[in-house]
Amino acid sequence: MFLHSLETIDVFHKDIPQLPMGKYAHVITLRETNSFALFQTDGELNISRVSLGRKPENQSLATRIVLFKRKQSTPERLTGRELLRRYGMVDNCKYNTDKFCKRCPDCIYYGFAIGSEGSERSKVLVDSAFSITGYDMSHQQFTFNAPSENGTMSEGGVMRTALGEQDYVLPQVYFPSVVTIKDPTEAEFIYVLNNILRTRRYGAQNTRTGTVENIITGIVFADGEIFSNLELTQAVYDHLPAEQRAKTPLLRDAVRSAMEAVVPGLLSEDGVVYHAFAGERLETILRETLQVTSDEDHLRVLLTQANAEANTYAQTYGVDAKPAKAKK
Ligand SMILES: [Zn+2]
Repeated sequence: MFLHSLETIDVFHKDIPQLPMGKYAHVITLRETNSFALFQTDGELNISRVSLGRKPENQSLATRIVLFKRKQSTPERLTGRELLRRYGMVDNCKYNTDKFCKRCPDCIYYGFAIGSEGSERSKVLVDSAFSITGYDMSHQQFTFNAPSENGTMSEGGVMRTALGEQDYVLPQVYFPSVVTIKDPTEAEFIYVLNNILRTRRYGAQNTRTGTVENIITGIVFADGEIFSNLELTQAVYDHLPAEQRAKTPLLRDAVRSAMEAVVPGLLSEDGVVYHAFAGERLETILRETLQVTSDEDHLRVLLTQANAEANTYAQTYGVDAKPAKAKK
């Protein structure tokens, strides 16, 4: 075991199971922009119209900024893949192509789909996250003098947004987000948690903007699914004093406290059996995790174990399984 504080509860599998076995690790994360971020699709900031809160008096509609699922999971996957390469665990696995290796921790944990050549369901589940504060007060539009590369305002003959105009998410905008790991082994749990903790850039890639800090405010081990990101965001909104949530940036400590405060109530509505970790007990898990992930030798042991588990899974149920075994 790497995480001694979890030794006494039965939350991890020894091997990656073939079928869903009803063990869930939910990592409750507060994503905070640390610079101007571009969370866009086709040049438009992603937004959605939803109720501000859950309380009857807070159910008026407003537009929130949305951080789509893939905008969260892709950079986190890439963080893990970079580490696997650095420590020599994968050499021939190409992300988002038909050359996924189908046997490394990234392929097995996060899944892949290659047309007719098979797929692996993702065991790491992420959903769209919503800004706590409304779009109006959480974004800023910048107009640049520089022309776009082709020097025109149209693309394919269609007029686009004004020349050099970009809609950025402001710094210190908060996106509550639950990352769920289904049926984790201990190595898988630490691998995914480490990816969340280490990933710093989201949104438009290959730029220096888009820095995001992930703050883990809780970890819940349960026998089922728990509340959604939207419910969590709305509950945090309800919990913040009206005068505080009326202006940006929100106070970070207030948002953190609100995240911790609303989780027990939300969990009690979910009707699942769970062990929830927050405060001091959460700090212990995170400290034990960092002792593994910030030490080269320990990290190598962890990644080696993760790799062995993923390879075994591929040999038993996946691409390397013997023909006698039923193929998907
Ligand atoms: Zn792979």
